Amino acid sequence: MYEGVVQDLIDELGRLPGVGPKSAQRIAFHILQAEPTDVRRLAQALLEVKAKVRFCAICGNVAQEELCNICRDPRRDLSVICVVEEPKDVVAIERTREFRGKYHVLGGAISPIEGVGPDDLRVKELMTRLMDGTVTELIIATDPNLEGEATAAYLARLVSPMGLAVSRLASGLPVGGDLEYADEVTLGRAFEGRRRIDA
Ligand SMILES: [Zn+2]
Repeated sequence: MYEGVVQDLIDELGRLPGVGPKSAQRIAFHILQAEPTDVRRLAQALLEVKAKVRFCAICGNVAQEELCNICRDPRRDLSVICVVEEPKDVVAIERTREFRGKYHVLGGAISPIEGVGPDDLRVKELMTRLMDGTVTELIIATDPNLEGEATAAYLARLVSPMGLAVSRLASGLPVGGDLEYADEVTLGRAFEGRRRIDA
């Protein structure tokens, strides 16, 4: 539709999640009209995030060093792990200030339709963390949708021989939604009212 590089930019922006063709066009023209220094700062931020940020060797959260700041924090409770799908869920739960344990980021949820199975997620890493008996409680905070529920049920079954207390966030979260869209109060309440799963 547009010439060369302008269309290339629109195409690239359009590949981002949640950005439709119209938004891609709007952002592209915003960038075209922006100050060169602003554009350079944006480009730099994109490059730096890829160069500097990696995933925590223990929990899979985003990290600037080998371990994320939560895994490095000695004040966090080692006996509880909260399992989430994505690093953005860690941020959402941290905002509630209800949780003082550690996290485990799966990197997604089980979805037969999209061909995602347990082996595509950080399930093996979770099992390794549970081996030495330090962890006594597992809170499964996957998204309140079909894939999230399937993942929670799978994990509960998988860890049941280990004799841990396994719980799932209480209802009240918007069903079918994404954990990150729940407001802090709702998510905080869901945390407090978590229910024990007996697999
Ligand atoms: Zn970590």
